[in-house]
Amino acid sequence: MSTQDCLFCRIVAGEIPADVVHETEHTLAFRDIHPQAPTHVLVVPREHHADAAALAAARPELVAELVSAAARVAASAGHPDDYRLVFNTGAGAGQTVFHTHLHVLGGRSLDWPPG
Ligand code: AMP
Ligand code: ZN
Repeated sequence: MSTQDCLFCRIVAGEIPADVVHETEHTLAFRDIHPQAPTHVLVVPREHHADAAALAAARPELVAELVSAAARVAASAGHPDDYRLVFNTGAGAGQTVFHTHLHVLGGRSLDWPPG
C-alpha cells in the first residue's frame, strides 16, 4: 500500500486534518473521529506498517514507543493509572485502517470482556 492510499499516512503527512494531542519523532497521537470513551486517542508510528505484529517484526522499539506515548496521553487526560490499550488486528477483530494504531481508551469505567 502506498502512502497516498493510507488514511493514517496522510494524517501523519498533514494532508488530512487531525486533532493531535501528542507527538514524538517517531509517533503521532490524535483523537479518534468516533470516540468510544471520553478519552479515545489513536497512537500511530509515523512509518507505515499494516498492524502491530508487522511493526513488532520490523521495528520492535517502535512498539515500546507507542505504549510509552499512550501512557503520556492517559496521564495528560487525567487518568494516568486507568486506561485500556487495544490493537485491533485483522478485519475479523475490527481492524478497519491497516496502518498500525494503538487505541487509548479511558475517562470512564470500561467493561470486560469487550464486545
Ligand atoms: P480500527 O477499527 O481498530 O482499525 O480503528 C480505526 C479507527 O480510526 C476507528 O476507531 C475510526 O473511528 C478511526 N478513524 C477513522 N478515520 C479517522 C480520521 N480521519 N481521524 C481520526 N480517526 C479516524
Ligand atoms: Zn500508512
